[in-house]
Amino acid sequence: MTDRFNFTQSLTCVACGDILADPITLSCGYTVCSHCFPVSSPTSVKKSVFRCPVPHCESATHLFGPELLADVTVTELTNILRKYLPNCSLPPSPCSEIDTTSNSTDFIATSVIPLLQCHSCTSPVVDPITTPCGHTYCRLCILQSKIDTDQCNTCYRPLPKFSNLLSQAPNHLISRLVKDFQLSGLLPCNTRETALLDSVHLQQNNVPLFISGKVILPGQSFRLPIYAPNHLRMFRDSLIPSSRYNGLCLAAVHRSRPQVAQFGTILQIIGVEHHKDAIIIDVVGVDRFKLDTHQEEDETTLVANFEILHEASIRQLSIEIPNSPSADDHLGLQKQHEQVSQYAVDLADTVLRFIQHLSQQSTMPAGVLHTQTAGLLGPLWFESMKALHGPMPSKLNPTAVCWWAAVVLPVAHTDLYLLLRTIPIIDRLELVISWMQNLQSQWERCRSSAIHAFSQVPQQL
Ligand SMILES: [Zn+2]
Ligand SMILES: [Zn+2]
Ligand SMILES: [Zn+2]
Ligand SMILES: [Zn+2]
Repeated sequence: MTDRFNFTQSLTCVACGDILADPITLSCGYTVCSHCFPVSSPTSVKKSVFRCPVPHCESATHLFGPELLADVTVTELTNILRKYLPNCSLPPSPCSEIDTTSNSTDFIATSVIPLLQCHSCTSPVVDPITTPCGHTYCRLCILQSKIDTDQCNTCYRPLPKFSNLLSQAPNHLISRLVKDFQLSGLLPCNTRETALLDSVHLQQNNVPLFISGKVILPGQSFRLPIYAPNHLRMFRDSLIPSSRYNGLCLAAVHRSRPQVAQFGTILQIIGVEHHKDAIIIDVVGVDRFKLDTHQEEDETTLVANFEILHEASIRQLSIEIPNSPSADDHLGLQKQHEQVSQYAVDLADTVLRFIQHLSQQSTMPAGVLHTQTAGLLGPLWFESMKALHGPMPSKLNPTAVCWWAAVVLPVAHTDLYLLLRTIPIIDRLELVISWMQNLQSQWERCRSSAIHAFSQVPQQL
């Protein structure tokens, strides 16, 4: 066997320079010998905190700690390498680089390629994730199986948290081998474009819908408890492995009887908790979509054709402001774009200032009746909103401001849905500002009638 795939180099431990022995793959995606790990940090007494033995590793955190088991695939690869090692060290024959009918090709086809298959879908692994128990799956495959069970499908050991699997670095060694074999034509090129929510098309057909009782906005985090068997069935049927969002998604529309709503939100699943009679799903809204048509497949399944309203494609539609220069020429159009962007930033600034105004420490002494809205909701409210929905976005990102303001302000579901279906960003921000004005005038009206009522009391005595 000639080493035209640099097996020896790929399977050499970067920590000790030898062929990997009992290889383990860390959550940063690098593989080292088990005896090269962990390099405990001298400042730490905790066993789970360690320094990565890979000098060029840039990962800030390493999960799973010392209880990692041998990487099954890489162990097999090193066994093969050891078996053929004497030949490996021979210099390649002059024609070996192009000789695809040689023994080396047969050998690769029969011994190595089967090892590069996902333990779940048995296709060449895509975006390979190695679990702490040492089994390698495609990222989408392991996420899908984590929805069904907390155990590895191969060895039944517990799996890490869903969020860890979602953010874990791919197994660099296996990724590289798969890529090399694909480039050489020995392995089919599998780009894994899932048919639904792929990274190319905004128009999507026959997508199963997830019917939700809530309007969930883009950027909003939400916990979905799923108890009832038919709800669970609908949830499973509507799960979409998505290459566009690199994870599992739901196309969620809220229930508005007798029809479903025409606008919905793609939810990305970021966490799963298994309980005795329920699962709790953590989701975050990503993009909105607009239904074209939908039809009932059976009692619990709705499928729809829809268009994803990606924010970048929407900006083009929102260039209607009064007294703007003529859009005939390119320069005029560009000027118009700049004006709209600046206007959106100004509106976002107004929204943020109002939220800050509501969250101030109230300047009035406790117990005094007043109509001012400064400090109406207070600093405690502001802190809890930031903890729930993330920090306040910058006014330079008006889209983020609009969604963030909508989830922190006390607003009815019908208003949230109105926002979801409003397309241009300027109109959305103006809608949020109208809520703020309503809140302000309601509060002032309500407080002044209370003050008036109180002022009447002593005169009646
Ligand atoms: Zn590392
Ligand atoms: Zn080593
Ligand atoms: Zn797979
Ligand atoms: Zn396993």
